[in-house]
Amino acid sequence: NLEGKTALVTGSTSGIGLGIARSLAAAGANIVFNGFGDATEIAAVRQQVENEFTVKTSYSGADMSKAAEIEAMMQQAASEFGGVDILVNNAGIQYVSSIEDFPVEKWDAIIAINLTSAFHTTRLALPYMRQQNWGRIINLASVHGLVASAQKSAYVAAKHGLVGFTKTTALETATTGVTCNAICPGFVLTPLVQKQVDDRAARDGISNEEAKVSLLSEKQPSREFVTPDQLGALAVFFCSEAASQIRGVAWNMDGGWVAQ
Ligand code: NAD
Repeated sequence: NLEGKTALVTGSTSGIGLGIARSLAAAGANIVFNGFGDATEIAAVRQQVENEFTVKTSYSGADMSKAAEIEAMMQQAASEFGGVDILVNNAGIQYVSSIEDFPVEKWDAIIAINLTSAFHTTRLALPYMRQQNWGRIINLASVHGLVASAQKSAYVAAKHGLVGFTKTTALETATTGVTCNAICPGFVLTPLVQKQVDDRAARDGISNEEAKVSLLSEKQPSREFVTPDQLGALAVFFCSEAASQIRGVAWNMDGGWVAQ
């Protein structure tokens, strides 16, 4: 039961972050949403979560590539809710290209959003968590935090970095009630992956459905997508008392991807 706790989920206006935010709200947590998107749609999502789960929500449009905006977001959460008890570092972007052709500004953006933002939110969330002697930090890494794929150099580097950062955070908080762990999903059908499906459909002249099967067959033995709800249930478990000695793990939920 997470009643009275506040969860900040970065990148929660879409996909996995939204699924995790909904699961944490279902367990009773108030939610600070973050991410880009249409203001009316974001307001509707908040309203829906507030009504369905009887929790409070707020929203920050902070850009996770900008330290000053992250600081403002954390200050906003502190003034609205007292502090952040559960921090989910989820915001992330992808870009697919060979190293020689990789746009330098895309590399910088991926490292900033997928890795450095977690350093900023974590350093700003820890003092309050230590003071409460309770906290949960959950980093959305990826199977690409454990193994690599060609054409995804920046993403793989950032996610391996995030897994490393997770372990250091877990060690620095090991004697406290604060835990830090990473979740490593395989393919989840969100806008981030739909773009890869679309690119494949166009490249190979196949349908959307065929492109999904083709993408999954390459990497994910179950040939089924992981869902945001399943990832949300794992996040809720990491927040439970039963998980209080799970520290510094990188837990894959990947349809068997990394077992190969
Ligand atoms: P998505 O594109 O559906 O959602 C990304 C979210 O991040 C959105 O809310 C977007 O507004 C937000 N965002 C993007 N750039 C931002 C920025 N600069 N500042 C603030 N918010 C920003 O993607 P998703 O598939 O739900 O991915 C969520 C996380 O899960 C990412 O870290 C991704 O790497 C990871 N992941 C996804 C998959 C997958 O198959 N979809 C697999 C493994 C890991």
